[in-house]
Amino acid sequence: GGVAMAVSLAACSGEGAGGGGDTSSAKPSDLTIGVSMPTQTSERWIADGNSVKEKLQAKGYKVDLQYAGDEIPTQSQQIDQMITQGADVLVIAPIDGTALSGQLQAAAAAKIPVISYDRLIRNSPNVDFYVSFDNYKVGVAQANALLVGLGLQNKDGSKGSATGPFNVELFAGSLDDNNAHFFFNGAMDTLKPYFDAGTLKVKSGQTKIEQVAILRWQQETAQKRMEDLLTSSYNDGSKVDGVLSPFDGLSRGIITALQNAGYRGGAKKMPVITGQDAEVASVKLINDGVQSSTVFKDTRLLADQAVVAAEAFLKKEEPKANDTKAYDNGNKVVPAFLLPVQTVYKDDIKSALIDSGYLTAQEVAAGR
Ligand code: BGC
Repeated sequence: GGVAMAVSLAACSGEGAGGGGDTSSAKPSDLTIGVSMPTQTSERWIADGNSVKEKLQAKGYKVDLQYAGDEIPTQSQQIDQMITQGADVLVIAPIDGTALSGQLQAAAAAKIPVISYDRLIRNSPNVDFYVSFDNYKVGVAQANALLVGLGLQNKDGSKGSATGPFNVELFAGSLDDNNAHFFFNGAMDTLKPYFDAGTLKVKSGQTKIEQVAILRWQQETAQKRMEDLLTSSYNDGSKVDGVLSPFDGLSRGIITALQNAGYRGGAKKMPVITGQDAEVASVKLINDGVQSSTVFKDTRLLADQAVVAAEAFLKKEEPKANDTKAYDNGNKVVPAFLLPVQTVYKDDIKSALIDSGYLTAQEVAAGR
């Protein structure tokens, strides 16, 4: 660890405590928080990055915010640099949860606390805290929204009037993102009784996460997979009634594929499609009746928790966890603070998103 320490102290040339120094009595303006975000292609990470940065700066801290363009080597290099430049805390949303153990070892050697942000960093003992949403419940919410959209269940959880059977297809996120597995498990546990009863059928037969995962959560890849599914499994006149999609970006790709195949209204009604993140383009689609729902995760509240955790570490305290069981990263159970999530249907757009100031009515109308 001596090398990293030496470099970090040299790099900040007397200014600030530097990674690993005694930060408990330092002025905020002498402390730097490194914030590593995966990509700017999805709105939520831009909102996350901005919120974390603004909230820390409002308290006087310096912030080094970096986006890695969904490239693993870029993220590794950005974190290396934060460490050598003497970051005092790291807040990291990993692209590949298993790819950062070298960086985290260097951080540990320099005594820099590491907060895993939204996505769990795996296979490393050097993750000090996790701030996220209840990711299993995101999957449960998506499955319930699919059931509600199909009429199999009411919003209050009671049995709906529809009987099925319905054809559904399943999508999952990127396999290297720990969250993708939690979302899928939450959804599949919820849908299982309907598969068992034959009320829901997956005509493609693709029900394993490895078969339905979309690398790096890419919209184009989801569109391509939906096109392939339509050709391979629905060219006999049968229709898709619902699609479990774990992210609004994927949902938009899926919708494009369906629209290109003539799904719209009438006999070829757009299937019930779920989502996540309340991205503005998708909220417009929900408002227009094209997408059925999204799961809203208020990134402002997550940013607040990241700031609370960072400040606790700077004061040499342990941040308060509300979950100490669910997130085993393959090396240890990481103490976590998990936030609740909210399903948003068309009727909820105003109360959940607009009245809370997350989106404006103009943005929703314009879709951007
Ligand atoms: C996040 C989701 C997001 C997805 C794609 C996940 O790790 O929890 O909110 O939709 O990544 O960016």
